[in-house]
Amino acid sequence: MGSLRVLELYSGIGGMHYALKESGVPAQVVAAVDINTTANQIYRHNFPDTPLWPKTIEGITLDDFNKLSFDMILMSPPCQPFTRIGLQGDVADPRTKSFLYILDLLPRLARLPHYILLENVKGFETSSARECLVKTLKDCGYTFQEIMVSPSSVGIPNSRLRYFLIAKASPGSFSFQTSSEILDSFPRPAENTSDSQKPTVSDPFCPSTCQQEENAEESRVLYKLETMKDAQRKSNQNSNLSVQQIQDFLELRTEVARYLLPPKVLLRYGVLMDIVRPTCRRSVCFTKAYGHYVEGTGSVLQSCMETELESVFKALDQQSEEEKLQQLLKLKLRYFTPREIANLMGFPQSFAFPEQISTKQQYRVLGNSLNVVVVTRLIQLLVS
Ligand code: SAH
Repeated sequence: MGSLRVLELYSGIGGMHYALKESGVPAQVVAAVDINTTANQIYRHNFPDTPLWPKTIEGITLDDFNKLSFDMILMSPPCQPFTRIGLQGDVADPRTKSFLYILDLLPRLARLPHYILLENVKGFETSSARECLVKTLKDCGYTFQEIMVSPSSVGIPNSRLRYFLIAKASPGSFSFQTSSEILDSFPRPAENTSDSQKPTVSDPFCPSTCQQEENAEESRVLYKLETMKDAQRKSNQNSNLSVQQIQDFLELRTEVARYLLPPKVLLRYGVLMDIVRPTCRRSVCFTKAYGHYVEGTGSVLQSCMETELESVFKALDQQSEEEKLQQLLKLKLRYFTPREIANLMGFPQSFAFPEQISTKQQYRVLGNSLNVVVVTRLIQLLVS
């Protein structure tokens, strides 16, 4: 096979490009397109030889696309129109316009790309944008598979449940039996599918997938606003030996003081934070607000092991603010560094930020990016 010509749309910091490299598929990115100046600086820093087009996708003509003569599209369209906090504007959201433009162009290309991979948030699967995508692919004769997976399924202790679609132009078929249902795990090669059981839980790390009725005992708060059920789920995750420990992803030398949670944050959000230890095999999804908003933006790390989380939180109720703070400080809670988050997201050691990019900007672009190991697997599935 010759080298594939790849078009990387919404390239961000190049998560797709890294996955392509890691997949071992002979390929070159012939153009990467993104409008975000910070992300583009980082992309250029890491891929100085890749043509990067700092413009809106809607501004690129059919003719320009045809000239690239690409065999594969890798893309992560903006996800805000499909997230709960993004108000779910779906196709009416101006941020979906560029994606609809791509769908409009696809059938008119001089040559259909043989491979397409799309990544988006959970929520995209029920959108009209997804319906448009599926219709366009069918009209163009593509075979495709939709999958929703999280990094935990490739042994990484992080939750980031995402929607993926891989498509192949005809003639061509996948190495596995495709299904019109959205898969919740990586498909196995065709010969094994008869005896393969359908997994039941799509993402053991994602609380929103646990929809069973809670009984009174399970929903009783133990401490730190956590119920027995929460504790049980976390404990199950931490005992899943197919997933690595958090400590494998930590930097050896961290300026701990720089990343410690300030007293105000501890007092205000202490009970709401998701706290993990280096020996845990779980962490929650890191979002772009990590490092300045605490609630629901990603886990924090307990760096003092001598103190028991439970004892600290159980004692908090009866204490004055000052006593509470003294208790919480004992845990030495800190944020994960951007490098550690990049590690959890599967970015190789060679990935680096240019000096002028602030820590806040680093968290932001990482929160928008994707898990490289998961996408690597998908590219291999797509091309094999
Ligand atoms: N996969 C990427 C991140 C994708 S996030 C990574 O690994 O980093 C979506 C990206 O789409 C953002 O970087 C945003 O700047 C870009 N974007 C949004 N609308 C765009 C448009 N109309 N044209 C080009 N880029 C756009």
